[in-house]
Amino acid sequence: MSIILNGIGVSKGIAIGNAYVYVRATTRAKEYNVPAKYHQKEVERLHLAVTEASQQLHDVKQKIAQETPEDILAFIDSHLLMLEDPAFDEGATSIIKEFSCNAEWALQIQCDRLVQVFDEMEDPYLRTRKDDVIHVVQRIQHCLAEKPKSTSEPVRLKGRIVISDDLTPADTLVMQHEKVAAFVTEFGGPMSHTAILARNLGIPAIVGVHNARQLIHPTEKLIIDGHYGAVIGDPDARSLKHYRNLRQQNLKRKAEYKRLINKPAITLDGCPILIQGNIDRPEDIRNLKHFDDTGVGLYRTEMLFLENNQAVDEETQFKTYKRALFRLKGKPLTIRTLDLGADKEIRDALSQGPMAHNPAMGLRAIRRCLKEPENFIHQLCAIMRVAAYGDVKMMIPMMTSIDELEQISALVEHAKELLRQRKARFNDDIEIGAMIEVPAAALSSAIFAHRLDFLSIGTNDLIQYTLAIDRIDDEVNYLYNPLHPAVLQLIKITIDAGKSAKVPVSMCGEMASDPRYTRLLLGMGLDYFSIQANAILEVKDIINNSDIGVLRPKAEEILRCHDLQKIESLVDQLNR
Ligand code: PEP
Ligand code: MG
Repeated sequence: MSIILNGIGVSKGIAIGNAYVYVRATTRAKEYNVPAKYHQKEVERLHLAVTEASQQLHDVKQKIAQETPEDILAFIDSHLLMLEDPAFDEGATSIIKEFSCNAEWALQIQCDRLVQVFDEMEDPYLRTRKDDVIHVVQRIQHCLAEKPKSTSEPVRLKGRIVISDDLTPADTLVMQHEKVAAFVTEFGGPMSHTAILARNLGIPAIVGVHNARQLIHPTEKLIIDGHYGAVIGDPDARSLKHYRNLRQQNLKRKAEYKRLINKPAITLDGCPILIQGNIDRPEDIRNLKHFDDTGVGLYRTEMLFLENNQAVDEETQFKTYKRALFRLKGKPLTIRTLDLGADKEIRDALSQGPMAHNPAMGLRAIRRCLKEPENFIHQLCAIMRVAAYGDVKMMIPMMTSIDELEQISALVEHAKELLRQRKARFNDDIEIGAMIEVPAAALSSAIFAHRLDFLSIGTNDLIQYTLAIDRIDDEVNYLYNPLHPAVLQLIKITIDAGKSAKVPVSMCGEMASDPRYTRLLLGMGLDYFSIQANAILEVKDIINNSDIGVLRPKAEEILRCHDLQKIESLVDQLNR
């Protein structure tokens, strides 16, 4: 009999194959007493296990290196860094001596201490990084364990659907190398390493399927629907037929998309549409180039600060932005000034004082930059210097009022003066634009459009602030809907404001990357999308098969509608 399990679909796609219930190399640590005269021996046992664990990871890297992108290998490097950090080894060594305990137990104590530090972090992304500590410790503990002699053949993973409690980055990469069809894990969220890797590697994946290892038989046939987060066990003939067809269609469509690489995005009635990519780091441009030779419409510079967990000096910023520009080989780069705060927080000198009660509504983004102008000036100088080397624009996040714009203009002038005094090379005519992601800014977009060189709609925050829904709060996530009539009105106001002031308006929020909304946005007059790399070709395909003349009246009908369910059904019709 079929069984359907639900989880969170974190990487789209359909897979059909036999399950492989994967038992990770974890060992439950047991505590036992090690008398003082054996401490040194126990420490040596620990060192040997750490060396073996690190050798295993180097072997994995060697095995997968050729065809694996740098940013993915970085996951393994982060584990190697931890393993090879003398402080890690020293911590466990001193626990062996202090508690007269075995190496496995010392590692467990060390692990619990580090996990607690991560658990106390405000940033949800950094909190998930405790998984790295757990994975590294488990690998060493496994090396410490006695290994049974095995004469059995290694399992062939090609085409299998891996079911596990969780997966380490190294496990995931090796499995991808062995061509597994999909992943299902019991734990993890959309920001877990498994999810990030699966998306980057294009493997269907579902996380958070509780008790999957008990409910799925070890070699049972499965269907995985990564879009809806559904796992169908022991499917009947009808389901198999349906999903085989769907998978076939998906594969065909993907292969067809390739013909769109480096082709213009232009509607059936001849309207050119600009598509650019969103990046967090210069290295992400590699992904962009894989999908299209396009420029960058949103470079989130706060990731540089988050990686360093502190303020970054002008020179480092300049070099990093320049690296991004040179990787683009002449294509445009829109650098967004710092958007720290809310779920992107660093706890250092930049963020002293108690945590705000509502950080998303607190000292975030441009508000924070204006409060700390010394740091902001460094960034302004770095961006204007890079702009002397190519097509670089500067974009301000979370703009809310014209008064902020006045303050920014004064600081930009001041930064220019400093650069002149230093005789630095810079572009004193850089284009400056603003993110429209606060309802007040959308309502004032006509004024911003007259004062700025471009606008970019940040739907992730615009939805959050319009509907009063914390975008990272699971409890209210069900209310987070880009099709809410109030959100659509604000988007429309902004697009129209740009058109009448003849100022470009892009959309860089996730709504622009979601193919379900492409036709609606085109009908509303959007002609500039800045999106995730792997969505570029699918969105372009929809654009190239759309007629704006047909879509416009349908979008107008949707904009007149106040009933969310009706809007959803009209959008479905638009996509059919
Ligand atoms: C947005 O808010 O839509 C956006 C693109 O910015 P971020 O997701 O970085 O807040
Ligand atoms: Mg935003």
